[in-house]
Amino acid sequence: MKQYHIETYGCEMNKAESAAMEATLREHGWKRVSEQDADLVILNTCTVRTTAENRAWNRISQLSARKKERAFALAVVGCMAEQHKGAIQKKAPGVDYVLGTFQKQSFGLMLDLVAKGEKIDVLEETPTYVFGASYHEPGAFRSFVPIMHGCNNFCSYCIVPYVRGREISRNPSDILKEIDQLEDLGVREITLLGQNVNSYRWEEQGHVLDFPGLLKLIARHLHDRQSSDAHGRIGWIRFLTSHPKDLSDSLIDTIAEDPIFCRHIHLPVQSGSNSVLARMNRKYTREYYLSLVDRLKAAMPDLTLSTDILVGFPGETDDDAEQTLDLMRQVRFAYSFMYHFNARGGTPAASMPDKVPDKAKKKRLAHVIALQKEITSALMKERLGQIDEVLIEGVSRRSKKEVLARTARDEMVVLPAAQSRIGQFARVKLVSISGNTFRGEEV
Ligand code: SF4
Repeated sequence: MKQYHIETYGCEMNKAESAAMEATLREHGWKRVSEQDADLVILNTCTVRTTAENRAWNRISQLSARKKERAFALAVVGCMAEQHKGAIQKKAPGVDYVLGTFQKQSFGLMLDLVAKGEKIDVLEETPTYVFGASYHEPGAFRSFVPIMHGCNNFCSYCIVPYVRGREISRNPSDILKEIDQLEDLGVREITLLGQNVNSYRWEEQGHVLDFPGLLKLIARHLHDRQSSDAHGRIGWIRFLTSHPKDLSDSLIDTIAEDPIFCRHIHLPVQSGSNSVLARMNRKYTREYYLSLVDRLKAAMPDLTLSTDILVGFPGETDDDAEQTLDLMRQVRFAYSFMYHFNARGGTPAASMPDKVPDKAKKKRLAHVIALQKEITSALMKERLGQIDEVLIEGVSRRSKKEVLARTARDEMVVLPAAQSRIGQFARVKLVSISGNTFRGEEV
């Protein structure tokens, strides 16, 4: 049997795309093994963050060197392959196949050619994005469902629109089909995935389906399906990522109306300063963001918010940085992904003047991290004693007698329970805190 090994760098989108590639690999009769035994090693790369890109470049060199010891095919796919195809071929002749984001439909063809020991020029542009086949990690109770791809926003620091292209929404009937398959496989929670899910738009026969419309369609479909027979149920729906400028009142009403939508939204703010937001081309102001948070919390008082914060953007002053801290205090995010600015070649921000010195960037990031820690800890303490529903996801890393679960608000809870409960919903009381995880007891 032909054997493959795949490594994924970067974001959740990339993980979902690797999962889809694995489904295709299996369909073509390939088996997953460790890198040492693989006939084909695939690196699914990401250029969104410098660290992920550097790690992929290191891995390419390492694997190219290893080809002197044994024969195997090396493929680089994903957005780094899209952006740096020429450089990869020049710098790393050991790479046999380079498949960009828009050449996904060539993946099956590439597998057939690897099996025959042939090479192809897969660099030719085919500018149509193909959504991956349904894939489900056996035994997993959570799954991603891609609903759109690409981004039209051109935030000045971000490479995504250049390497993933413009927004393309997925056909709603394919989405429903995939959800049905996942439910039949035992999935209990889905996350609808896209760079900016709020701008989902599907037009057919003069009728436009927007993101709130899609959410309603999915919820209605699941409720009908679940009431019509004894299907195990998908009880929770999440979505990722939301651009604040596109989060409409109609979306807020839709989520608030149906508890199938989890009470957690990831809403990247990036900065609390209007001048920085304008240079980032985020297309909203601090006041707009705060009013959006007010509307969300008024509609769903139990909602948690998480965010991305980027400090040290070119031209950011101490006062700008203070405004970010102030916004964090006002919103009280449950958690944040926090970064300092690193220029991505090819983006407008890379050539902006007034770069913030490294020392100041690191200091500001440390302040943001310390404040987030404080807020997270205070929010967790406020939750102690409360009872909430969780989905039991797996065995705890510490003890086989404990399981790991998650609330709809995206909080992790460890509780004593038998492994047979994995995949079930349960009601738990949050009794204590250990790091960023609650300890709970079933009630
Ligand atoms: S919304 Fe902005 S940060 Fe997000 S993917 Fe699009 S361009 Fe990048």
